[in-house]
Amino acid sequence: MAKPVPLLAEMLAAAVLLSACESPNERLPEYELAGQTMGTTYSVKLVAPDENIDRIGLGEKLHEKLVYIDGSMSTYDQNSELSRFNAAESTDWISVSAELCSVISSALDLSSRTDGAFDITVGPLVNLWGFGPEGVISVPPADDQITAARSRIGFEKVSTDCGLPAIKKDQTDIYVDLSAFAKGYAVDQSAELLEANDVANYLVEIGGELRVGGHNAAGKPWAIAVEKPLDNTREVQSVMNLTNSAVATSGDYRNFFEYDGNRYSHTIDPRSGRPVTHEGAAVTVVSDSAADADALATALLVLGPDDGLKFAANQGIAANFLVRTDSGIEHQRTAGFSALVN
Ligand code: ADP
Ligand code: MG
Repeated sequence: MAKPVPLLAEMLAAAVLLSACESPNERLPEYELAGQTMGTTYSVKLVAPDENIDRIGLGEKLHEKLVYIDGSMSTYDQNSELSRFNAAESTDWISVSAELCSVISSALDLSSRTDGAFDITVGPLVNLWGFGPEGVISVPPADDQITAARSRIGFEKVSTDCGLPAIKKDQTDIYVDLSAFAKGYAVDQSAELLEANDVANYLVEIGGELRVGGHNAAGKPWAIAVEKPLDNTREVQSVMNLTNSAVATSGDYRNFFEYDGNRYSHTIDPRSGRPVTHEGAAVTVVSDSAADADALATALLVLGPDDGLKFAANQGIAANFLVRTDSGIEHQRTAGFSALVN
């Protein structure tokens, strides 16, 4: 789940400043807890928390929770529960924590809802294309390598029994990758931890996936920016005013390599075994759950602007596609997303 660059952190700072300027003299106190997790950064803003809240203790609990999630679900840590499941040469039920079981079960639901566009068994292809823990590549893999990896893909080959709790795979070489889900899940868990500790006004962000509750330091809905899909700079494409919502973005403009004039990015189309190639550069999804938003953004990027937009509209998903055209970047939105934009 490591990813080198946080997508929205700077943008968020800019967005929060935007709302601050509206009433410069009336800012409420704001505290930030920040650190590193899942190969990226996290940032949590608490606005006017109750004076009785132990902020240092809360920061420690939050950090502990993130360390636990990463230690359980990372494919970059060979000792994580998930890595041990992946390495197991067995098709029997393997006992796992209730939490990992429930995360895999929810992720499988999303794989089935998106007809496998989001597929947590895509790991062998992710690694083959140089976007996993095995390191980067500069030349695309050969067709026979892609064919071999594709024989290991298929979310229906993984089952959960969370009554036990345990998971199993139908083929020993199945490899589960939660990188397009776990950051969102960790954002949800952090938000729920804050709410359980009586913090109502907050922003949680991990590597660009985020969730907000209540209001910002200006007493207004959080102003969240969607950035333009540009390789080397950060510019605001649009701003949404949100409360009690989660936002996730998947794009092809931060984690990619180029070969022979083609761009190969870290979103893999499980149907072809190759990185997505259409003109859709980024997808942002707004939802109640950051985990769902995270997975759906990946699924919609796989489906592309045409099929993805139809799918999102049918399913009532608030989604924004940023598409490269001859005249620059254009947005295509579902009605649910348009309603959120300023
Ligand atoms: P980011 O990590 O930049 O937030 P995503 O949430 O889109 O971006 O996750 C991308 C990661 O998800 C990839 O690095 C890879 O590990 C994994 N992945 C790639 N394609 C798929 C897919 N079709 N379904 C599920 N996971 C995927
Ligand atoms: Mg994602």
